[in-house]
Amino acid sequence: MKNVLTIAGSDSSGGAGIQADLKTFAAHGVFGMSVITAVTAQNTQGVFAVQDITPAVIAKQLDAIFEDIEVAAVKIGMVSQVDTIKTIAAKLREYGASNIVADPVMVSKSGYRLLNPAAEVTLIEELLPLAAIVTPNIPEAEVITGRTITTLAAMEVAARDIFALGPKSVLMKGGHLDGDSTDILFDGEEFIYLPSRRIATKNTHGTGCTLSSAIAANVGRGLSMRDAVAAAKEYITVAIEHSLSIGKGVGPTNHFY
Ligand code: PLP
Repeated sequence: MKNVLTIAGSDSSGGAGIQADLKTFAAHGVFGMSVITAVTAQNTQGVFAVQDITPAVIAKQLDAIFEDIEVAAVKIGMVSQVDTIKTIAAKLREYGASNIVADPVMVSKSGYRLLNPAAEVTLIEELLPLAAIVTPNIPEAEVITGRTITTLAAMEVAARDIFALGPKSVLMKGGHLDGDSTDILFDGEEFIYLPSRRIATKNTHGTGCTLSSAIAANVGRGLSMRDAVAAAKEYITVAIEHSLSIGKGVGPTNHFY
Protein backbone atom coordinates (compact mmCIF):
# COMPACT_ATOMS: atom_id res chain seq x y z
CA MET A 1 0.00 0.00 0.00
CA LYS A 2 1.22 3.52 -0.80
CA ASN A 3 1.51 6.18 1.92
CA VAL A 4 0.00 9.57 1.12
CA LEU A 5 0.28 12.67 3.31
CA THR A 6 -2.06 15.61 3.74
CA ILE A 7 -0.78 18.90 5.16
CA ALA A 8 -3.94 20.84 6.01
CA GLY A 9 -6.38 22.17 8.59
CA SER A 10 -8.77 20.15 10.73
CA ASP A 11 -12.52 20.59 10.10
CA SER A 12 -14.42 19.59 13.24
CA SER A 13 -17.50 18.73 11.17
CA GLY A 14 -15.56 16.22 9.09
CA GLY A 15 -16.59 17.38 5.61
CA ALA A 16 -13.50 19.34 4.57
CA GLY A 17 -9.84 19.69 5.55
CA ILE A 18 -7.84 16.85 7.09
CA GLN A 19 -10.92 14.74 7.71
CA ALA A 20 -12.06 14.89 4.08
CA ASP A 21 -8.52 14.16 2.94
CA LEU A 22 -8.12 11.05 5.12
CA LYS A 23 -11.54 9.72 4.11
CA THR A 24 -10.63 10.25 0.45
CA PHE A 25 -7.31 8.45 0.93
CA ALA A 26 -9.10 5.52 2.61
CA ALA A 27 -11.63 5.36 -0.23
CA HIS A 28 -8.72 5.13 -2.69
CA GLY A 29 -6.90 2.34 -0.86
CA VAL A 30 -3.87 4.38 0.17
CA PHE A 31 -2.52 4.78 3.71
CA GLY A 32 -3.34 8.31 4.88
CA MET A 33 -1.11 10.44 7.10
CA SER A 34 -1.66 14.02 8.30
CA VAL A 35 0.28 17.11 9.30
CA ILE A 36 -2.22 19.47 10.92
CA THR A 37 -1.60 23.17 10.25
CA ALA A 38 -4.62 24.60 12.08
CA VAL A 39 -7.62 23.47 14.08
CA THR A 40 -10.93 24.99 13.01
CA ALA A 41 -14.22 25.02 14.86
CA GLN A 42 -16.77 24.67 12.08
CA ASN A 43 -19.90 22.92 10.91
CA THR A 44 -22.16 23.00 7.86
CA GLN A 45 -23.08 26.62 8.64
CA GLY A 46 -19.71 28.28 9.03
CA VAL A 47 -16.26 28.59 10.58
CA PHE A 48 -16.34 29.93 14.15
CA ALA A 49 -12.72 29.84 15.30
CA VAL A 50 -9.26 28.94 14.04
CA GLN A 51 -6.19 28.03 16.09
CA ASP A 52 -3.03 27.90 14.01
CA ILE A 53 -0.49 25.26 14.97
CA THR A 54 2.97 26.75 15.52
CA PRO A 55 5.55 26.39 12.73
CA ALA A 56 7.81 24.49 15.18
CA VAL A 57 5.15 21.83 15.76
CA ILE A 58 4.35 21.66 12.05
CA ALA A 59 8.06 21.12 11.35
CA LYS A 60 8.20 18.33 13.98
CA GLN A 61 5.20 16.59 12.41
CA LEU A 62 6.91 16.71 9.01
CA ASP A 63 10.20 15.43 10.46
CA ALA A 64 8.40 12.59 12.24
CA ILE A 65 6.89 11.39 8.97
CA PHE A 66 9.69 11.97 6.47
CA GLU A 67 12.47 10.60 8.70
CA ASP A 68 10.59 7.33 9.10
CA ILE A 69 8.12 6.63 6.31
CA GLU A 70 8.20 6.66 2.50
CA VAL A 71 5.74 9.23 1.19
CA ALA A 72 4.31 8.55 -2.28
CA ALA A 73 2.42 11.83 -2.62
CA VAL A 74 1.64 14.98 -0.63
CA LYS A 75 -1.50 17.09 -0.68
CA ILE A 76 -1.27 20.64 0.71
CA GLY A 77 -4.48 22.38 1.79
CA MET A 78 -5.09 25.15 4.35
CA VAL A 79 -1.77 26.75 5.36
CA SER A 80 -2.93 30.03 6.99
CA GLN A 81 0.24 32.03 7.70
CA VAL A 82 3.52 33.23 6.15
CA ASP A 83 5.73 31.35 8.63
CA THR A 84 3.67 28.18 8.28
CA ILE A 85 4.12 28.20 4.51
CA LYS A 86 7.85 28.93 4.69
CA THR A 87 8.33 26.06 7.16
CA ILE A 88 6.40 23.59 5.03
CA ALA A 89 8.18 24.58 1.81
CA ALA A 90 11.61 24.31 3.45
CA LYS A 91 10.84 20.85 4.86
CA LEU A 92 9.40 19.55 1.58
CA ARG A 93 12.55 20.75 -0.21
CA GLU A 94 14.81 19.27 2.50
CA TYR A 95 13.18 15.84 2.17
CA GLY A 96 12.88 15.99 -1.61
CA ALA A 97 9.14 15.33 -1.48
CA SER A 98 7.54 14.53 -4.82
CA ASN A 99 4.04 14.27 -6.29
CA ILE A 100 2.95 17.42 -4.44
CA VAL A 101 -0.66 18.48 -5.04
CA ALA A 102 -1.18 22.09 -3.91
CA ASP A 103 -4.75 23.25 -3.30
CA PRO A 104 -4.41 27.05 -2.83
CA VAL A 105 -7.13 27.26 -0.17
CA MET A 106 -8.00 30.91 0.54
CA VAL A 107 -11.62 31.43 1.60
CA SER A 108 -14.23 28.87 2.77
CA LYS A 109 -17.56 28.62 0.95
CA SER A 110 -19.10 30.24 4.02
CA GLY A 111 -16.81 33.26 3.49
CA TYR A 112 -14.20 32.72 6.21
CA ARG A 113 -10.61 33.63 5.27
CA LEU A 114 -8.59 30.46 5.80
CA LEU A 115 -5.42 32.06 4.35
CA ASN A 116 -4.13 35.30 5.84
CA PRO A 117 -4.16 37.74 2.87
CA ALA A 118 -0.61 38.72 3.83
CA ALA A 119 0.43 35.13 3.07
CA GLU A 120 -0.96 35.01 -0.49
CA VAL A 121 2.34 36.06 -2.04
CA THR A 122 4.24 33.56 0.12
CA LEU A 123 1.96 30.74 -1.02
CA ILE A 124 2.51 31.73 -4.65
CA GLU A 125 6.29 32.07 -4.31
CA GLU A 126 7.02 29.14 -1.99
CA LEU A 127 4.48 26.41 -2.73
CA LEU A 128 3.57 26.70 -6.42
CA PRO A 129 7.12 25.97 -7.67
CA LEU A 130 7.14 22.72 -5.63
CA ALA A 131 3.84 21.47 -6.99
CA ALA A 132 3.30 18.67 -9.49
CA ILE A 133 -0.14 20.22 -9.82
CA VAL A 134 -1.96 23.22 -8.37
CA THR A 135 -5.77 23.18 -8.22
CA PRO A 136 -7.21 26.73 -8.00
CA ASN A 137 -10.90 27.51 -8.29
CA ILE A 138 -11.82 30.70 -10.12
CA PRO A 139 -11.72 33.11 -7.14
CA GLU A 140 -8.30 31.69 -6.17
CA ALA A 141 -7.03 31.94 -9.75
CA GLU A 142 -8.22 35.57 -9.85
CA VAL A 143 -6.17 36.34 -6.72
CA ILE A 144 -3.11 34.52 -8.08
CA THR A 145 -3.21 36.12 -11.55
CA GLY A 146 -4.91 39.46 -10.87
CA ARG A 147 -7.27 38.70 -13.78
CA THR A 148 -11.06 38.57 -13.95
CA ILE A 149 -12.18 35.14 -15.16
CA THR A 150 -15.67 34.76 -16.63
CA THR A 151 -15.16 32.45 -19.63
CA LEU A 152 -13.40 29.22 -20.57
CA ALA A 153 -10.99 31.26 -22.71
CA ALA A 154 -10.10 33.36 -19.67
CA MET A 155 -9.58 30.14 -17.67
CA GLU A 156 -7.04 29.03 -20.27
CA VAL A 157 -5.18 32.35 -20.03
CA ALA A 158 -5.12 32.14 -16.23
CA ALA A 159 -3.92 28.52 -16.37
CA ARG A 160 -1.00 29.63 -18.54
CA ASP A 161 -0.18 32.46 -16.11
CA ILE A 162 -0.23 30.11 -13.12
CA PHE A 163 1.83 27.50 -14.97
CA ALA A 164 4.49 30.19 -15.47
CA LEU A 165 4.78 30.47 -11.66
CA GLY A 166 6.43 27.04 -11.54
CA PRO A 167 4.02 24.12 -11.01
CA LYS A 168 4.31 21.21 -13.46
CA SER A 169 0.59 21.40 -14.22
CA VAL A 170 -2.50 23.44 -13.37
CA LEU A 171 -6.07 22.27 -12.87
CA MET A 172 -8.34 25.29 -13.27
CA LYS A 173 -11.67 24.41 -11.67
CA GLY A 174 -14.62 25.98 -13.44
CA GLY A 175 -17.39 25.28 -10.94
CA HIS A 176 -17.86 28.98 -10.14
CA LEU A 177 -18.90 29.79 -13.73
CA ASP A 178 -22.57 29.42 -14.79
CA GLY A 179 -23.76 26.27 -16.49
CA ASP A 180 -21.97 22.94 -16.57
CA SER A 181 -18.79 22.68 -14.52
CA THR A 182 -15.81 22.40 -16.86
CA ASP A 183 -12.33 22.08 -15.39
CA ILE A 184 -9.26 22.65 -17.56
CA LEU A 185 -5.97 20.80 -17.05
CA PHE A 186 -2.88 22.51 -18.49
CA ASP A 187 0.46 20.71 -18.42
CA GLY A 188 2.46 23.23 -20.44
CA GLU A 189 1.61 21.49 -23.71
CA GLU A 190 -2.12 21.28 -24.16
CA PHE A 191 -5.41 22.20 -22.55
CA ILE A 192 -7.45 19.18 -21.57
CA TYR A 193 -11.13 19.88 -20.97
CA LEU A 194 -12.87 17.94 -18.22
CA PRO A 195 -16.58 18.72 -18.48
CA SER A 196 -19.23 17.49 -16.08
CA ARG A 197 -22.91 18.22 -15.67
CA ARG A 198 -23.92 20.55 -12.86
CA ILE A 199 -25.44 18.63 -9.97
CA ALA A 200 -28.38 20.30 -8.23
CA THR A 201 -27.39 20.16 -4.56
CA LYS A 202 -26.41 22.60 -1.85
CA ASN A 203 -24.13 20.03 -0.24
CA THR A 204 -20.69 20.90 -1.60
CA HIS A 205 -18.71 21.42 1.60
CA GLY A 206 -15.19 20.11 1.15
CA THR A 207 -15.32 19.49 -2.59
CA GLY A 208 -11.97 21.20 -3.25
CA CYS A 209 -10.26 19.29 -0.44
CA THR A 210 -11.69 16.00 -1.65
CA LEU A 211 -10.72 16.53 -5.30
CA SER A 212 -7.12 17.47 -4.52
CA SER A 213 -6.77 14.51 -2.14
CA ALA A 214 -8.14 12.14 -4.76
CA ILE A 215 -5.54 13.45 -7.23
CA ALA A 216 -2.78 12.91 -4.62
CA ALA A 217 -4.00 9.37 -3.91
CA ASN A 218 -4.09 8.57 -7.62
CA VAL A 219 -0.62 9.92 -8.43
CA GLY A 220 0.67 8.21 -5.27
CA ARG A 221 -0.63 4.93 -6.70
CA GLY A 222 1.34 5.56 -9.88
CA LEU A 223 -1.21 7.02 -12.28
CA SER A 224 -0.07 9.69 -14.74
CA MET A 225 -1.24 13.19 -13.86
CA ARG A 226 -3.83 13.16 -16.67
CA ASP A 227 -5.28 9.85 -15.54
CA ALA A 228 -5.10 10.89 -11.87
CA VAL A 229 -7.06 14.07 -12.54
CA ALA A 230 -9.66 12.37 -14.75
CA ALA A 231 -10.29 9.67 -12.13
CA ALA A 232 -10.43 12.24 -9.32
CA LYS A 233 -12.97 14.31 -11.26
CA GLU A 234 -15.16 11.22 -11.65
CA TYR A 235 -14.80 10.48 -7.92
CA ILE A 236 -15.80 14.00 -6.80
CA THR A 237 -18.74 14.06 -9.22
CA VAL A 238 -20.17 10.86 -7.73
CA ALA A 239 -19.36 12.10 -4.19
CA ILE A 240 -21.36 15.29 -4.86
CA GLU A 241 -24.22 13.34 -6.50
CA HIS A 242 -24.55 11.32 -3.30
CA SER A 243 -23.73 14.17 -0.90
CA LEU A 244 -25.05 14.11 2.63
CA SER A 245 -27.70 16.36 4.16
CA ILE A 246 -26.20 16.41 7.64
CA GLY A 247 -26.53 19.62 9.63
CA LYS A 248 -28.57 22.72 8.87
CA GLY A 249 -26.33 24.23 6.19
CA VAL A 250 -24.01 23.13 3.39
CA GLY A 251 -23.52 19.40 3.86
CA PRO A 252 -20.47 17.33 2.92
CA THR A 253 -19.83 15.11 -0.06
CA ASN A 254 -20.08 11.34 0.32
CA HIS A 255 -16.52 10.00 0.27
CA PHE A 256 -17.48 6.35 0.37
CA TYR A 257 -20.31 6.09 -2.08
N1 PLP B 1 -11.95 24.06 6.46
C1 PLP B 1 -10.76 23.61 6.14
C2 PLP B 1 -9.84 23.17 7.22
C3 PLP B 1 -10.38 23.55 4.79
O1 PLP B 1 -9.18 23.14 4.44
C4 PLP B 1 -11.29 23.97 3.79
C5 PLP B 1 -11.03 23.95 2.38
O2 PLP B 1 -10.20 23.76 1.73
C6 PLP B 1 -12.51 24.43 4.17
C7 PLP B 1 -12.82 24.45 5.50
C8 PLP B 1 -13.48 24.97 3.19
O3 PLP B 1 -14.36 24.07 2.75
P1 PLP B 1 -15.52 24.55 1.80
O4 PLP B 1 -15.12 25.84 1.21
O5 PLP B 1 -15.62 23.46 0.79
O6 PLP B 1 -16.74 24.66 2.64
